[in-house]
Amino acid sequence: MQIAKHKVVSIDYTLTDDSNKIIDTSKGSEPLTYIHGIGNLIPGLEKALAGKSEGDAFEVTISPQEGYGVHDESLLEVLPRSKFTAEQEVQVGMQFYAEGGSEMQVITVVGVEGDRITIDGNHPLAGRMLSFAIKVVDVRDATPEEVVHGHVHGPDGHHH
Ligand code: ZN
Repeated sequence: MQIAKHKVVSIDYTLTDDSNKIIDTSKGSEPLTYIHGIGNLIPGLEKALAGKSEGDAFEVTISPQEGYGVHDESLLEVLPRSKFTAEQEVQVGMQFYAEGGSEMQVITVVGVEGDRITIDGNHPLAGRMLSFAIKVVDVRDATPEEVVHGHVHGPDGHHH
């Protein structure tokens, strides 16, 4: 079965950055299972997967535009230390979640100078070239219920 809209697809993947450092991998855990064609994955990855079948293995490099977006300088913000709780240790590289409109947003601390804390609201992978090594493990039709919910139901997905 070929990957197309509303197929439930399971993939093994390893994501590396442009210096060949592994950022994320499914090795050692369950494959990633998602519904194709509804924006569950970054656009470049869904494009590369379309038309592939179970057992296919390939590599793809994805630009920021087709990945997590370009780095947007306007999402950098300088906050006073007092915006953080007293017991919070604030260090460069620290990440936390904040409400960003409809979805949770990852905020990364990118600078600490005295009482001035610089935070970056870009996705941690924004502006990065991403290389994926992919193996398609399974392809099946989504159930009508899964299509309506927009996510995969058990055994590896939601149970409800
Ligand atoms: Zn559901």
